[in-house]
Amino acid sequence: MRYNRRDYNSENETRRLVSWLMGKKYGPIILVVLILLAAAAGYLYYNGYFGGISADAEAEYHFIDIGQGDASLILTDEAAVLVDCGTYEQSDIVIDYVSRYTDKIDLFVFSHAHDDHMGGAANVINSLTVDEVLMTSHASDAVFFEKALDAIEEKEVKVTEALPGGTYTEGDVEIKVFAPVKDYEDHNANSIIMRVEVDGSSVMYTGDAEHRTEKDVLEDYPYSLKSDILKVGHHGSSTSTSEAFFDAVSPKFGVISCGEDNSYGHPHREIKSFFKERGLEYYRTDLVGDVVFIVKNGEIVVEAGK
Ligand SMILES: [Zn+2]
Ligand SMILES: [Zn+2]
Repeated sequence: MRYNRRDYNSENETRRLVSWLMGKKYGPIILVVLILLAAAAGYLYYNGYFGGISADAEAEYHFIDIGQGDASLILTDEAAVLVDCGTYEQSDIVIDYVSRYTDKIDLFVFSHAHDDHMGGAANVINSLTVDEVLMTSHASDAVFFEKALDAIEEKEVKVTEALPGGTYTEGDVEIKVFAPVKDYEDHNANSIIMRVEVDGSSVMYTGDAEHRTEKDVLEDYPYSLKSDILKVGHHGSSTSTSEAFFDAVSPKFGVISCGEDNSYGHPHREIKSFFKERGLEYYRTDLVGDVVFIVKNGEIVVEAGK
């Protein structure tokens, strides 16, 4: 009853304001400006400019252009998951980028203990609110790694160990971890290989995993790897993305995160010609900047461009 009266009153107020404005000299102009402003605000809100995911999207997979390194953000209505953040310097780009969409990261995944993937992890944890970290038990004595552990402790961030065969759920985001299956002697080989699924769309994240890690994953999980999007292993290095692994994933899209004119020559010629041969539609952050895959009604739309 009370609500109805208030509702009726506010409608009356609007009508009164409009007729008052129409009676003034610049009233109609002011009215038009107000309507345009409201429409612009609505448009920006609808397209996610005031934070969060685009209004009618099920999921957004962002691959942030940080130069030579990896940083990606998974956004849904229910969760924000960050996978890697680059070096300390690069992590400032990531913090700015993520802040445009959310002020809280529900889950922060460290693919492996290399500087170009988690060198800025402490900076991210200290600058944003991070609820939980997913990482393997493969430690490093590098300063950035120690700093990340210090930040986790100081901010009392929950840590979950990524184990092969494990499923981790964060809101409507489901993460299946396949690797590392074994203890390898180097960090790249110990990268987490995981498949992220939201509402039927999926992305395979591979860190810097190499052929032998892919081979072990194929042996253990041959039929679980199919994904819509492949985050191409090790910045497009020829030491990753074997034919067998690629075929098991059989992605519709690929994305290579690497820096312009990087000293490693990433992506390697062999990978480029392999993708061409397979007709893969793939995007390189060094050429197109941030790459965003937006899933709407089960369809994937790619937004990229510097
Ligand atoms: Zn790397
Ligand atoms: Zn690495």
